[in-house]
Amino acid sequence: MAILVTGGAGFIGSHTTLELLNAGYEVVVMDNLSNASAVSLERVKELTGKDVKFYQTDILDREGTEKIFKENKIESVIHFAGLKAVGESVAKPWEYYHNNIAGSLVLFDVMRKNGCKNIIFSSSATVYGTPSQIPVTESCPKGEITNPYGQTKSMLEQILTDIQKADTEWNVILLRYFNPIGAHESGRIGENPNGIPNNLMPYITQVAVGKLKELGIFGDDYDTPDGTGVRDYIHVTDLAIGHVKSVKKLEENPGLKIYNLGTGTGYSVLDIVHNFEAATGVKIPYQIKPRRPGDIATNYADPSLAKEELGWVAERDIRKMCEDAWRWQSNNPNGFEA
Ligand code: NAD
Ligand code: UDP
Repeated sequence: MAILVTGGAGFIGSHTTLELLNAGYEVVVMDNLSNASAVSLERVKELTGKDVKFYQTDILDREGTEKIFKENKIESVIHFAGLKAVGESVAKPWEYYHNNIAGSLVLFDVMRKNGCKNIIFSSSATVYGTPSQIPVTESCPKGEITNPYGQTKSMLEQILTDIQKADTEWNVILLRYFNPIGAHESGRIGENPNGIPNNLMPYITQVAVGKLKELGIFGDDYDTPDGTGVRDYIHVTDLAIGHVKSVKKLEENPGLKIYNLGTGTGYSVLDIVHNFEAATGVKIPYQIKPRRPGDIATNYADPSLAKEELGWVAERDIRKMCEDAWRWQSNNPNGFEA
């Protein structure tokens, strides 16, 4: 019996594949490589000494997806595949809804036709909009979402919730990630954004490696201790281990479950800059810029439900997140390209 990881060549998918292999699971990856390199999986094999079966297949490709289920005994699916750039989703809503929603509907249909009704879905803290309470618990109502990317996360949560309600043989775990950063401690796999990074940590590491001149800090007049935005940054390895724990949870036939995956601690943009400088000895020049539209002042998780029900807590601190992000970026200035 194997676990199918869609989007498994990507940032979080490759780290999760590695942790699943280390935990003794058999893993099949499908990825269309629209935002990833197959080299990531070669490195996962090298790091674990284990094999991964890889299909370069799009979730929109019904025949190709069916072939994977015919050729393998898939017990559960971890569904990472999707487009994820917030700004791009505003410019290309059709592409985002088509890829993320239509693609997922094909995947879910092929799953049920092949008797596979166990899924873990990559959702996001973005579904809370401006959270009604901080720290955010899973019972906080979903909020107003300002971009098509976030809408696809919220809609897919709803679709899976309705599917599970109609057919209780389904087991669905919705994982709401806070801000994944860092990289595997080997420095061999990590985040490899196309073009200029939108997210804070890859922007910082690219400034540090000399690819970008300086960091722009989006606003220093928020109602936070130093005026810059506060977020719950989580090491990608901790996040990956959260998926391994969720796979174990699926084995209990839990029905529908929702978990926040975060550390429970908020750090400001300036905290991240200072921790990065302390961890690496590299100075990060920055300039204060206007606020970025759609940003909120503060967002961090209450992760106690995941602790109680999955036995999971994030163990890697901010210093380690910065050290590991830097090891990856400095050893691989051009990502997976030689
Ligand atoms: P990523 O882009 O590195 O990984 C997504 C992978 O999906 C890529 O390898 C891409 O090639 C693949 N993919 C995209 N469309 C596909 C399709 N139609 N068929 C097959 N493969 C396809 O992104 P990531 O940061 O690893 O994110 C993984 C998941 O987690 C995504 O669903 C993302 O929305 C979600 N998420 C990410 C974050 C974050 O900050 N990184 C936060 C919350 C949620
Ligand atoms: N941020 C910033 N400069 C950047 C990128 C991000 O100041 O170049 C800030 C952003 O305003 C937010 C925090 O860093 O307060 C985290 O942003 P990111 O895009 O990484 O994640 P988000 O929480 O928005 O999903």
